Amino acid sequence: MSSLRFNAVQEASKRTPVEVENPGKLPSEYFGKNVFNRAQMSKYLSKETMDIVLAAIDMGTTLHREIADHVAAGMKMWAIEMGATHYTHWFQPLTEGTAEKHDSFIDYLNGPDSSIIERFSGKVLAQQEPDASSFPSGGIRNTFEARGYTAWDPSSPAFIMDDTICIPTVFISYTGEALDYKTPLLKSLSAVDKASVDVCRFFYPEVRKVYSYLGWEQEYFLVDSALCAVRPDLSLTERTLMGHDSAKNQQLEDHYFGAIPPRVASFMKEVEFEAYKYGIPLKTRHNEVAPNQYELAPIYGETNLSVDQNLLVMTLMRKIAVKHNFKLLLHEKPFAGINGSGKHCNWSLCTDTGIGLFTPGKTAHENLLFVTFLVNTLMAVKKHDGLLKASIMSATNAHRLGANEAPPAIISVFLGKQISAVLDKIESSSDDDDITVDELKLMKLGVAHIPEVLVDNTDRNRTSPFAFTGNRFEFRAVGSSANCSAAMIALNSTVAAQLISFKNDIDKKVSDGMKTEEAIFDTLRSYIRESKSIRFEGNGYSNEWELEANERGLNCEKSVPLIYDSYTSEESVKMFESIGVLNQKELHARNEVKWETYTKKIQIEARVLGDLCLNHIIPVATEYQSMLLDNLYKMRMVFEKDKAEKLSKEDAALIEEIAEHISAIKLNVDDMVEARKLANKIEDTREKAITYQDKVEVFFNTIRYHVDKLELIVDNRMWTLPKYRELLFIS
Ligand code: ADP
Ligand code: MG
Repeated sequence: MSSLRFNAVQEASKRTPVEVENPGKLPSEYFGKNVFNRAQMSKYLSKETMDIVLAAIDMGTTLHREIADHVAAGMKMWAIEMGATHYTHWFQPLTEGTAEKHDSFIDYLNGPDSSIIERFSGKVLAQQEPDASSFPSGGIRNTFEARGYTAWDPSSPAFIMDDTICIPTVFISYTGEALDYKTPLLKSLSAVDKASVDVCRFFYPEVRKVYSYLGWEQEYFLVDSALCAVRPDLSLTERTLMGHDSAKNQQLEDHYFGAIPPRVASFMKEVEFEAYKYGIPLKTRHNEVAPNQYELAPIYGETNLSVDQNLLVMTLMRKIAVKHNFKLLLHEKPFAGINGSGKHCNWSLCTDTGIGLFTPGKTAHENLLFVTFLVNTLMAVKKHDGLLKASIMSATNAHRLGANEAPPAIISVFLGKQISAVLDKIESSSDDDDITVDELKLMKLGVAHIPEVLVDNTDRNRTSPFAFTGNRFEFRAVGSSANCSAAMIALNSTVAAQLISFKNDIDKKVSDGMKTEEAIFDTLRSYIRESKSIRFEGNGYSNEWELEANERGLNCEKSVPLIYDSYTSEESVKMFESIGVLNQKELHARNEVKWETYTKKIQIEARVLGDLCLNHIIPVATEYQSMLLDNLYKMRMVFEKDKAEKLSKEDAALIEEIAEHISAIKLNVDDMVEARKLANKIEDTREKAITYQDKVEVFFNTIRYHVDKLELIVDNRMWTLPKYRELLFIS
């Protein structure tokens, strides 16, 4: 057997779970230990400073520089007690993932010849200027004046990782444009807060703030690190570019919610222990549908914080996986033929007075508020389905949604039978009913009865990209490797803009003499009609849906580079600018980055695929072929001609088959390389991304087809790459 693969399989099969040390009897004893949270702040900051910081966190008031000095002093004391020696601004460039640049606390007391002290001032807490010229900016910063700076986000607590205190920050250019995810996210959260408060006040004048909540569900695969090490495609691209189906995969559905394998359980335990130290409330862990696929999810929290926690968890998972001899795969589709990984983003809005705006209430009045937010969300999704799709689309997520063999990438909303019935009733209520909107009428329309009907509303549609699930929406189209911010920026912004236009509609009707409730009801009824085409309760993965969605006029674009155009469409720019989240220049620049990232991903995959074919597949197939030839030749020496021919007929056919596959692979790889060279000459980033998709990526499946055929033919002992059955069933 190929010693590469053989050794890897041996090593992987022999492993035992890695021991994990429990940091405390109960999570509550060490929860948030590594975080400069409210409890720590109260120990290290004066009451006065603390109040000002909390006001900034809770109500978004501005922090002054002197306050930063006080906070920095307290933070430094805490950090040094915790054994930290360095600090870094921790930010989210447009590359996905996070970036940091560590500086030590040490400094001269006063000039070169003086003694060394530990210094951490308000100035470095509040603002830094990383030499960030190599982060993608879509051309906003020319490299010769590559100035961008990071600025402290007090609403997400600093934390200590290894020996470094990490300070969550935004990352902006010197001229003020956002170069990251956090800046527009914070702006979108403040927009949805303001717009929601204005609408809530029609119902409850005392509402002062509305929070956006996010609860993500992180799916992932684990593969033994020894096996991964001899699969260059997995190590370099996090997905298998070749590999024949395993005879058994997920047909029996025996992995889903089954017992967690011991090595994995030990990994999960350590992730939880670590996450708790960072104040991340992980709540669930279980097997997912595909073999070696798992999921973890926290209790939901405020969106900005929850996004940071997800990024931190991804970092922790990567690190801890290495310790447990696993490679963590966050790619959306590491294996063909079995389920991919998503990151469902559970999203809701909640007032400072504790009203969940997507939670049905007990009275008709409460439920009218609920229906108001529900219907406005439908309208937002209806108006901006292309943009929402763009917010979740990437080269990797395309394999899960939209690309060949993947379910269609169409955004629609699933509401479930009961809620749909209520909306249908409201929609069909006649104008004559409209004289008063009293309790009785809302009862008749089912609005008053929503909580009762929801109790048995158990129908869950797993194929819907955006589903209402009882007290929240679940944006399921988000990819497992993504920064949730992109989806959260789009969602909170579109809903904010929609709520503003709703309020304008109401105000107008009221000034024309209508009663407020009446105006709300009237407006909702027309919105329900207008947004109807976005509602879909059927199988979102079917071909019929694609045809129907087309007829309904929904966005059915499949090409990733073209989907990004939705960010810069007239409606999107107008929407984002109207609420001050992103301007036209930023939107264009961000698309430049997206196209560039897309191109690079396909480029890397094309290279890896080409190399693997030339260095692994073809040599092995040729060797096996020559063994067969040798055998054939010898048969002809031993037996007389007719008999030899009869006996070796199948071998001869096999040799021919192998030759055909090898030649097909060679031809296609050559053509792919040529196509890549041509594509590389294109200057325009959008054009280049489109060309990479249409002219380079198109070879992948054909090449893979021939390689996978060879995998079945070639002697198992000679095949160098671990097979699907090994990657998926050893853990
Ligand atoms: P399921 O797999 O059934 O969708 P999970 O328990 O795995 O459910 O995940 C549900 C996620 O939704 C959790 O992160 C949970 O905290 C979150 N969640 C629950 N209620 C809300 C809400 N009102 N707003 C936002 N997220 C919520
Ligand atoms: Mg879910």
